[in-house]
Amino acid sequence: MTFPPIREELQGIEPYGAPQLDVPVQLNVNENPYGPSPATAADIAAAAGAAATTLNRYPDREFTALREGLAAYLNTSGGSGITPDMVWAANGSNEVMLQLLQAFGGPGRAALSFAPTYAMYPEYARDTHTEWLVGKREDDFGLDLDRARALVEERRPSVVLLPSPNNPTGTALPTEAVSTLCEAVGEGGIVVVDEAYTEFRRTGTPSALEMLPTHRNLVVTRTMSKAFALAGARLGYLAADPAICDAIRVVRLPYHLSSVTQATALAALRHAPELLGRVADLRVERDSCVAWLREQGLQVAESDANFALFGTFADRRAVWQGLLDRGVLIRETGPEGWLRVSIGTPDEMMAFKDALIDVMKTEP
Ligand code: PMP
Repeated sequence: MTFPPIREELQGIEPYGAPQLDVPVQLNVNENPYGPSPATAADIAAAAGAAATTLNRYPDREFTALREGLAAYLNTSGGSGITPDMVWAANGSNEVMLQLLQAFGGPGRAALSFAPTYAMYPEYARDTHTEWLVGKREDDFGLDLDRARALVEERRPSVVLLPSPNNPTGTALPTEAVSTLCEAVGEGGIVVVDEAYTEFRRTGTPSALEMLPTHRNLVVTRTMSKAFALAGARLGYLAADPAICDAIRVVRLPYHLSSVTQATALAALRHAPELLGRVADLRVERDSCVAWLREQGLQVAESDANFALFGTFADRRAVWQGLLDRGVLIRETGPEGWLRVSIGTPDEMMAFKDALIDVMKTEP
């Protein structure tokens, strides 16, 4: 017997998470490098301060005002006709998706995604006793829709997790992929399109929000952690049929969104134009980073997100370490030989490029 008596399948497992190191250039967790302005920070602080005067009371369990604010935002960001009863939120989209697995996965049920994909998905499945199924993406990291549909029809998952744009590859899915899989899954399951990075998409790849009216089993998740520059506040949300939100209400812990979180997110929504204001700059920086990496003779995945996956290296660990030794932290993730860099400020990207040139001289 080992102590503590943790579930057998959790024994010896390292908790998920990128190294949090205090280095000058941090390009490893796809954050937005631009924080709120002093005026916006002051408004958020005032809202949190007002919430502090009522902290003896539990928060609004239904976070009504926040749902209204998020619905209004979604209707300006690819959605239309989204009402507050179609919106759900939790502490980061990770928690939103865990709640989805709690409600729609479980023993005797399966969740499916297509690798390479977001590394937390198998953890949601494990933690909810849901069988984990994984199909494969093509060489360009897109989906072969016939193969994907066949896999769904064969294995009948209750939950399909489709990140678009995908992490770690940056690949956005066409509308057709979402509708094909929603139809293949049918009413026996849900299709979760994880749009954590959606605001960074290049033009021409629409949000899955526009398909909500035609697919009752579609769930679109979003987060304030990336484009919205609010990773520290922990606020993720989704849009779906109200019946799906009602199902999550059964599994959520009571009062899961603190008053401070609700006030912070609402204040941030009031400043959406400023917080989202650097997205266009980050897209330009992303495209130039991708072009520059290709000029260095590297392979780079097409990216619709605020990061780029590049490679391949015979010893990616050595390249990652070489960059870290030069004060630049990126992420060792994705298929063997690839590395992922988040898009930072122009100065940070310059530091990354200088360091990479230096490292590639010694670690070809
Ligand atoms: N989905 C994807 C694809 C992600 O990359 C991330 C964060 N790395 C998340 C969801 C979760 O983000 P958060 O919990 O901060 O909303």
